[in-house]
Amino acid sequence: MEKGRRVINVNLIQELSLLGCKILKNEPLCRHSSFKIGGNADFFVEIPNEKALLYCLENISSYRYMILGEGSNVLFSDNGYRGIIITLTGEFKNIEVCQKEILAGAGASVQQVLNIALKNNLVGLECVAGVPGTVGAAVYGNAGSKNMWIGSFVESVEVYKDAKKRCLSKDQISFNYRKSSLASCVITRVKFLLKKDTKNDSLDVIYANIQNRLLTQPLDMPNVGSIFKNPSVCSIGKLIEESNLKGVQVGGAKISDKHGNFIVNTGQATSKDVLTLINLIKETIKLKFGIALETEVKIVNDK
Ligand SMILES: Cc1cc2nc3c(=O)[nH]c(=O)nc-3n(C[C@H](O)[C@H](O)[C@H](O)COP(=O)(O)OP(=O)(O)OC[C@H]3O[C@@H](n4cnc5c(N)ncnc54)[C@H](O)[C@@H]3O)c2cc1C
Repeated sequence: MEKGRRVINVNLIQELSLLGCKILKNEPLCRHSSFKIGGNADFFVEIPNEKALLYCLENISSYRYMILGEGSNVLFSDNGYRGIIITLTGEFKNIEVCQKEILAGAGASVQQVLNIALKNNLVGLECVAGVPGTVGAAVYGNAGSKNMWIGSFVESVEVYKDAKKRCLSKDQISFNYRKSSLASCVITRVKFLLKKDTKNDSLDVIYANIQNRLLTQPLDMPNVGSIFKNPSVCSIGKLIEESNLKGVQVGGAKISDKHGNFIVNTGQATSKDVLTLINLIKETIKLKFGIALETEVKIVNDK
């Protein structure tokens, strides 16, 4: 059967509803992206437990689908998404602590995990202080700062791959700058191994990290964080600034005056506006510095 069928089978809708899923039809994706951009998804399914997830994955192989966390690293198309957007809720938001380990569901918020770690005097995750989003996405994209990332604290990850459950130990996963080897998996649970804090200076690191974000990032306007990955040798924000691109606006999208690697939605930005700015930056930086940029934001096409 061709991938990308547009109408979900009625039986599938009924079964998923009985298993506790919430299914929304023609759901506006602008409600689910921190950019506040995006047309309607054919279906938006909130999955609260593993039984429902397994049933869903076993039965949607003929549909186009994607897993969504909090939408803080995605640019949806103005035309929406032809297929099914899946988000993990309910038991996937659980967080448990056992000595130096934290077991977190993929749908749990990274900042909540960080708070619970702090309460239990567990340190390591300071590099994700202020990073919005879910545990699943953070591990999938190896979130963090330039030199410290969440993958360094992962002990094991539970995933579904081709609708089969697997538990991968850290030795079976590779983490690099803003990427992991988990790209074709649905991450359901992550075990972190942290260190007991003896000096109690973790809060200072977190405070400094958050202060720095407040000073340098346009947090008062809808955005998705860094648009491009930093080239290994320099900061892309600086290169964009040196190219006099800060403040350039197309439609409702603007290259932030505060941080060159952020694009903000001034109110009515479309995905087309943002893509025009992305292309302008790419072309300018290639021409001026000979550097080919790679986007950090996930650009999600409608079909
Ligand atoms: C103001 C701001 C600051 C930011 N600062 C940082 C920063 O310092 N460092 C940093 O790394 N990022 C940063 N980001 C980007 C973003 O917060 C991270 O990439 C975050 O991990 C995305 O989480 P999310 O739940 O919103 O993911 P989403 O945007 O919903 O999804 C991102 C990707 O993860 C995939 N995904 C989601 N859940 C799963 C799952 N369970 N299994 C498999 N794949 C999954 C999605 O399919 C998608 O491809 C920032 C964003 C903002 C808005």
